[in-house]
Amino acid sequence: MAYFAWRWAFFMVSEMTKRKYGFETEAIRAGQERTQWGEHSEPLYFTSSYVFDSAAQAAARFGGDETGPVYGRLTNPTVQAFEARMAALEQGQYCIATATGMSAITTVFMGLLSSGDHVVASSSLFGSTIALLDKIFARFGIEATYVDLPDLNSWKAAIQSNTKMLFFETPSNPLLDLGDIQVISDLAHENRALSVVDNAFCTPALQQPLTLGADVVVHSATKFIDGQGRVLGGTIVVNDEGLFDDLFLILRTAGPTLSPMNAWILNQSLETLSVRMQRHSENAMVIANWLTEQPQVSQVYYPGLESHPQHALASLQQSSYGGMVSFEVKGGREAAWAVMDRCEMISLSVNLGDTKSIVTHPASTSHTRLSEAERQRAGISQSLLRLSVGLESVEDIILDLLF
Ligand SMILES: *Cc1c(COP(=O)(O)O)cnc(C)c1O
Repeated sequence: MAYFAWRWAFFMVSEMTKRKYGFETEAIRAGQERTQWGEHSEPLYFTSSYVFDSAAQAAARFGGDETGPVYGRLTNPTVQAFEARMAALEQGQYCIATATGMSAITTVFMGLLSSGDHVVASSSLFGSTIALLDKIFARFGIEATYVDLPDLNSWKAAIQSNTKMLFFETPSNPLLDLGDIQVISDLAHENRALSVVDNAFCTPALQQPLTLGADVVVHSATKFIDGQGRVLGGTIVVNDEGLFDDLFLILRTAGPTLSPMNAWILNQSLETLSVRMQRHSENAMVIANWLTEQPQVSQVYYPGLESHPQHALASLQQSSYGGMVSFEVKGGREAAWAVMDRCEMISLSVNLGDTKSIVTHPASTSHTRLSEAERQRAGISQSLLRLSVGLESVEDIILDLLF
């Protein structure tokens, strides 16, 4: 399956993703191609289609005999600039940007699975990912088994002869469990399956799954990558050309394409990703430590705490511990809701990864579509609150949470 007509663009992307510089430099400069105007900031190309010099050229482009842009569903220079930068940061060869994180995940399932295939997935996945597998892909004959993310034996036990994919988030949402990317990826490969990591919580600034053996890394760029709560977006990064072809077929045919406007915003966001993630992590560490001292708090989930059962793994596979902290308050749902309703500064919202701190009650929002049994399987209790620690003065976040 070769689509020569667009190949040139991704050839350029992979040329540009050869890491020349450090992470911060690439985040600011990778993927930029200056036009004749010598603009310093990246240009924004608003165009849905492209013109051809002649009828013959149009035919050659569509027939695959000549390389060059064809139509905006397939490629756009602004989207490609963002893809090149994301590929560089994840240390991958190819990136496909999509309209949302869920459309990135949908593209991965559609592109890499067929009817009769089986997926082993972590039980602590983003709620819509579970719904996507159980309510939609199940209708197309794709079966999923859920396992306990940190427990390698549960992964091993779930593998069947038709298992094609191992899918997980690490750290997970919202309980901040970790999966060992190297170990789970090795298990996938021993069973001729693919290892797919949703890297939304860490971003490549803190963790680069492809370097640890994963085959595919997906993102909701809506979260820390935008980082300022403005746009939705998603990305898929791979190294393997065959995987890329299968994924690109979905992009060009089904059309979950990212808009150039959002790509431009996300590309700018990447320039500050590293400093933002550092400060998110610092603030979250302070808050997590403070929460552990509060008598009203029965449990704190944060990989940076030494009490976290996988603190050692977090220190190994992540360069810092990230901006998400979850905790349980004594008194169930009523007490949890009371904490939220007392907040004056912290936003009550379901987004995460924003400069603004956000508190969420997962059981009644992001995970409400799950049945009580599914919620229990995912460990989402009524007393659980998830805090996306923002970049405000950390004292103000604490003052707002004061019990
Ligand atoms: C938000 C999120 C998604 C979905 O992304 P959207 O951009 O909202 O479609 C997927 N996975 C994780 C871990 C998320 O946090």
